[in-house]
Amino acid sequence: MITRTAPSWHTEDWQILLSGSIRCPEALWKRLELPLDSLPAGLKGHQAFPLRVPEPYLDKILPGRLDDPLLRQVIPVAAETDQVAGYVADPLGELGSNPQSGLLHKYHSRVLLVLSGACAINCRYCFRRHFPYEDNRLSTAEFAQVETYLREHPEVNEVILSGGDPLVVSNARLANLLNIIEKVPTVRRLRIHTRVPVVIPQRIDAGLLEILGNTRLDTVLVTHSNHPRELDSVFDAAMGALRQAGVHLLNQAVLLRGVNDDGQVLVALSERLFHSGILPYYLHLLDPVAGAHHFDVPEAEARALMAHLHRYLPGFLIPRLVREISGKPGKTLIDLHLS
Ligand code: SF4
Repeated sequence: MITRTAPSWHTEDWQILLSGSIRCPEALWKRLELPLDSLPAGLKGHQAFPLRVPEPYLDKILPGRLDDPLLRQVIPVAAETDQVAGYVADPLGELGSNPQSGLLHKYHSRVLLVLSGACAINCRYCFRRHFPYEDNRLSTAEFAQVETYLREHPEVNEVILSGGDPLVVSNARLANLLNIIEKVPTVRRLRIHTRVPVVIPQRIDAGLLEILGNTRLDTVLVTHSNHPRELDSVFDAAMGALRQAGVHLLNQAVLLRGVNDDGQVLVALSERLFHSGILPYYLHLLDPVAGAHHFDVPEAEARALMAHLHRYLPGFLIPRLVREISGKPGKTLIDLHLS
């Protein structure tokens, strides 16, 4: 067993950073020196899906700029309450693939476990912003049922931890779950989808590195970063520590109007991710979730952006442009029509 001491860059406790997140719109507006007359318009969206921003992410937002691409991902706006045809509460039809609480089996060889309904940040474009987490997350008492399900489904070779965000739960709880998954010999791979390292990189602490460094499962951590300014030297150090622990690193982004719908920004994101030791994996078109229509980028525009990436990046830094379609057995690759 490899034991680890606290990484040298690790100066703050992630749980304190998590609990100290800003949740009050007035406090955010004051902290970021935003015009107060822009505040009332956003509050209805906040009531339906509360604002939540942790301190390390706040530090990367430019003050006084309502159009800051990091800020746009977290502030409620009036458009969230628009009723738009085609934008629904469960855009991927996940609630029909839910054989037991907290376990989704959408894809043949993979199951997805919802460990927590909470996130370290509430992203306004989130496709699970209406997901009924209170009825659909795994309690520790239900971990044994996961083992039973995996033994009854030997076709499942990969367990995906998703959420909410799986890295908001304690190391003890994660270790407990991994011990159970590791007992099922047909499961070979663990995948963790998380935005926490982007918004609180201090989460990659010694305890987590020890758990991931010692598991028999091949482990992939998929970061969710949408803009190069989200990544800094603390994030780089966290990613370096994960790689040393043997974790494979990928990133998936969502193409978002006013955030990263720009060829230069997407090129810079791929370059910045690689600098952190991460390969760009997917660029998702927005899932049509109610409250997020203002982030949509049409497919034709997305194709033009991908042509820009093909022009300026090597192949290994080009994410695949995909859309998720309810009922399909995997992501749908978008044909780029590149000549
Ligand atoms: S971190 Fe992921 S699951 Fe959580 S609100 Fe953001 S997009 Fe949704």
